Amino acid sequence: MKLDTKSLRYLNPTDWRTLTAVETGSRNHEVVPTPLIANLSKSSVGDVQRSISLLAKANLIAKVKNAKYDGYRLTYGGLDYLALHSLQKSNTVYSVGNQIGVGKESDIFVVSDEKGEQRVLKIHRLGRVSFKKGVRNKRDYARTKTQKERGAGSWMYMSRLAAVKEYAFLQALHDAGLSVPIPLGQNRHQLVMSLIDGFPLRQIENVPDPAGLYAELMEILVRLCSLGLIHGDFNEFNLIIKEEQEEEGEGIRLVPVLIDFPQMVSVDHANAEFYFDRDVECVKRFFARRFGFTSTEEGPLFKDARKQLGREGRRLDVEVEASGFSKKMAKELETYMKDHGIDGDARDAETNDEEASESGAAASDNDDEVVDEGASDIG
Ligand code: ADP
Ligand code: MG
Repeated sequence: MKLDTKSLRYLNPTDWRTLTAVETGSRNHEVVPTPLIANLSKSSVGDVQRSISLLAKANLIAKVKNAKYDGYRLTYGGLDYLALHSLQKSNTVYSVGNQIGVGKESDIFVVSDEKGEQRVLKIHRLGRVSFKKGVRNKRDYARTKTQKERGAGSWMYMSRLAAVKEYAFLQALHDAGLSVPIPLGQNRHQLVMSLIDGFPLRQIENVPDPAGLYAELMEILVRLCSLGLIHGDFNEFNLIIKEEQEEEGEGIRLVPVLIDFPQMVSVDHANAEFYFDRDVECVKRFFARRFGFTSTEEGPLFKDARKQLGREGRRLDVEVEASGFSKKMAKELETYMKDHGIDGDARDAETNDEEASESGAAASDNDDEVVDEGASDIG
């Protein structure tokens, strides 16, 4: 989804209050009636009317004709603005640059801070449905099916949960010294982290020492497990390889950096072993196919890795829960993702690798996308 930041600098304080009022009203109204917007924004009706038409024109809110009354709802654009505005106020983001990634459930942008230093902004977009050509007629079906669960703005809530989860894990992993981006800020459905200067493993055609890199990746999986965690989407899409000058000599070292955490689970999760094995298998398969490397060693096995639990005296799964991403939130997000067939990048790795790398068509099924947030009922 495009992020049009053009109007960001032109909104006045009443506009922001009005936009915030629509967001607040959306928590328990599918369609927020105009008098409620005026009331929540504590502005005069005239000012609010002016703001409403400006916000609607900029597609930050959308008019909805309801059976009982007319009103407005927040759009993804409006939520983007609110989150960006907060990140700007906290000096986390100064300006927004190019989009570097379009996932099924997220958009990735390069942003910069006041000094011009580049960072990464990840925007979670659950509830956005991407339809492949030819399955267009499923659209109406998908709409009616999600209508009732839209209730308290479920796309908004779920996208925020995904960002909160990803940020909580990013902080814990960074704090424990794992090779991950530096967490810099989070607001609503967005998070900001350092930009890793490298390429996803997926784009790397050969490495000087496949066995060494493979061993290093397996050690990361085992170390995560010893800290109480399983990544759940550990594969060539979510490992960025950066080059580092070796301290002694001229050599260059390849350093894997792990990203993309909305699927992480605790080692106590009912399907922990399944996720652990899948992570191991993804790396195995990729190394065999891309580098012709197959390890002579079996495993690592979940039961062995789990025996190392607590070897560093920390359990990040427990820490994350204590930091505010509760079991209940984890369950809600997991249920939503399961119900919507969201299963990370691993499935793409299994099914699309050959065709995609030959035709370079990795991201081509994204050109017919719909924001499933009730766009059909705009009056
Ligand atoms: P998704 O959930 O859509 O898979 P990811 O977090 O995996 O999102 O990011 C998608 C892509 O964006 C990555 O494969 C990578 O190329 C790029 N990317 C994400 N985060 C960073 C970062 N911190 N630094 C550099 N590139 C990044
Ligand atoms: Mg990813």
